[in-house]
Amino acid sequence: MKKADIQKLWLKIKKRKHIILLAVLILFSASLIFIIPASLVGKSQNYSYALYDKNGILLGGQVAADEQWRFAPDEVPEKFKKAIIAYEDKRFYFHSGIDILSIARAIKLNVSKKRIVSGGSTLTMQTIRLLENHPKRTYTQKIKEAFIAVLFEIRYTKKHILKLYCANAPFGGNVVGLEAASWRYFNRPPSELTWAETANLAVLPNQPSLVYPGANSEILLEKRNYLLNKLYQKKYFDKKTYELSLAESLPSKPFPLPSNSPHYLEYLKQTHKKNQTKFYTTLDYNIQKNTFRIIEHWSSEFSRRGISNAAALILDTKTKEVLAYCGNSGNALRNPDSYAVDMIQSKRSSGSLLKPFLYGAMLDAGELLPDQLVIDIPTRIGNYRPDNNIKKYSGVVPASEALTRSLNIPAIRELRKFGINRFLDCLRKCGFTTFNHDSEYYGLPLILGGGEITMWEAARAYADLMNKACMEQSDFPISTGSSWITVNVLSTGIRPEDEANWQKYANSKRIAWKTGTSNGNRDAWAIGITREYTVAVWIGNANGMGNPDLKSVSTSAPVMFDIFSFLPKTSWPDIPYDDLTEQTVCSHSGFAASPDCKETKSIFRSRAAVAPELCPYCKKISFTFDKKYRATTEDLTGEKAGIYNGTLPTIEKRFVLPPNLEYWYKNTRVVYTSLPDFVPWHHSTSADNLSIVFPEPNAKIIIPVEIDGTQGAMVMQAAVRSSDTFVYWDVDGIYLGYTEKVHEMTISPDPGTHILTVTDSNGNILKRKFEILEN
Ligand SMILES: [Zn+2]
Repeated sequence: MKKADIQKLWLKIKKRKHIILLAVLILFSASLIFIIPASLVGKSQNYSYALYDKNGILLGGQVAADEQWRFAPDEVPEKFKKAIIAYEDKRFYFHSGIDILSIARAIKLNVSKKRIVSGGSTLTMQTIRLLENHPKRTYTQKIKEAFIAVLFEIRYTKKHILKLYCANAPFGGNVVGLEAASWRYFNRPPSELTWAETANLAVLPNQPSLVYPGANSEILLEKRNYLLNKLYQKKYFDKKTYELSLAESLPSKPFPLPSNSPHYLEYLKQTHKKNQTKFYTTLDYNIQKNTFRIIEHWSSEFSRRGISNAAALILDTKTKEVLAYCGNSGNALRNPDSYAVDMIQSKRSSGSLLKPFLYGAMLDAGELLPDQLVIDIPTRIGNYRPDNNIKKYSGVVPASEALTRSLNIPAIRELRKFGINRFLDCLRKCGFTTFNHDSEYYGLPLILGGGEITMWEAARAYADLMNKACMEQSDFPISTGSSWITVNVLSTGIRPEDEANWQKYANSKRIAWKTGTSNGNRDAWAIGITREYTVAVWIGNANGMGNPDLKSVSTSAPVMFDIFSFLPKTSWPDIPYDDLTEQTVCSHSGFAASPDCKETKSIFRSRAAVAPELCPYCKKISFTFDKKYRATTEDLTGEKAGIYNGTLPTIEKRFVLPPNLEYWYKNTRVVYTSLPDFVPWHHSTSADNLSIVFPEPNAKIIIPVEIDGTQGAMVMQAAVRSSDTFVYWDVDGIYLGYTEKVHEMTISPDPGTHILTVTDSNGNILKRKFEILEN
């Protein structure tokens, strides 16, 4: 810029200096108006936390950082507005922060009494005093308050100023603000107070230290009735109301401010905006109270057995809104460290809770039909040897029963078939966010609780399973048909042996439910679902300590049924015909019927499923005419055939299990007739009597190296039909030994291809090729 230009500009400014001066003045007053009141209000934002149920009932709270019960400002009820204005500042709506008439009257009064008896303060000035935290009453302070009050009136509406006053007015002790006072003295929100109660509270801020309920009751009564009379004169209510109001007694003992669901409050604090202090939730006061009562009742019993913690979560199934949230039992209060842990958000072993999702996913994939037989025999996969909790095996068992009995071996074997990665993917789509590792990390134990979940997510996933069954949930990975079958299986069915008593807890409501006990008895779970409610219960020790008494049947399951018993009536989803299709299955195996299945029936399967596997167990068997023996046509000719010589074999369709499955299956409650032997002169084939269980044909096996660096071992398994048979073991032409009763042989083969040869004492021989992979 040239020198001449600058001079020009300066001249211009000089000419318009009054305009610039005005602008500066406006800016200055604007900053006064906006900055001073806002800074005062900002300073006061030290509020208590408050948790409300769906009807606005105060369920819990926490004192503010300065130990005061002070709730964030809310709408002021009409009654209280009228009362406080009538009592404190009758020209509130007509002045602009300062009430000259009132000040004049105060000065006159103070001079005549020769001391300060009246401040002549408006509600606006009082609000400033409250926000400034009760500074000393001096004339300078008074002038300052009057000045800021004017700014306040420009900056804020009357409604807002009244709101600020009501939130910060003192009501005696550490009770600050109308709302805290209303709950404390009347156990109700301010909007539900009577005229007498409102008047009672309106007179308190004037002299909170002198007058508070429970003391000086005569003065309080006098002040309340004085105000009631004023309000009656203003015709706010009729004579009858006035008389009844005068007859109302004063509040006696203050109510303790409630502290229900402190864990939910903590959770909400963490998941909401930092300065949010009031939480209007979906909790249901009665359901919350009852749930808490049940948890307390049971956990006091469990604590005698050394089980300290318990938690329960109830959701509205359809909306997944939280109806009750008990993050830990009050009994745990004796140990504040463990009480502080919110078990609903804690990561814990899932136990058996994930099994229904595998079942549903496999139904969808067409890899399972609802009652299809799954294998339940002693199993070893690599170095992993899962066990059923009951140490008994069924040989084969319907998949639905394996699910309700929560059998581990079928679950492991089915997961191996389905694939861990595929299952992890399904779980993530079900809403589980805690599976952060890959399939190798979890391995097959994933299905038995090898991974961690939270109750929060598990309850949601179960709710979605029911919603999908009701056709009300779209982004759930399991189809409506399969979800419906799964919840039906979970609502009926046979339960684990040690849960034989479950019926004693069950009530008339139809509930789909699953329990789970984690490894080492550290966690006992139970989740029940109906169309309306999802109830999840966890029992255990927050520090993870196991306890032999910690079994879902005697802990979490009865608590869950107890909770259901007080919940209102529930309903069950209708059959989703559009998502189901009829399937003819073998009555014995539950597999899709093959031409060799003798008895068949029709069931529903998910329409989403594809080409189910045909029954592998039914065969056409040929017998002698009296069915005493099995025989081939060849066996029935010639002299050796005796009375059968020249007869025709009788062909029958039969359900036949391989020997290794039959051995266990015969011991179950199911009626099963073994096949008769072949005629004595039959030239037997080995497959009839002897089978190799492990390794499977052409198996590729990795044997992990032991921790000490030595080569690990694998266990080969064989099965025979008759229990007095010996089995001789040979690998690559090297004889390893023989076994009786339990046919297992441990070896540490080198990498490469090997041939296993087993021979039984009847001379049957089987060979199997397998490969050991480089580690
Ligand atoms: Zn069949």
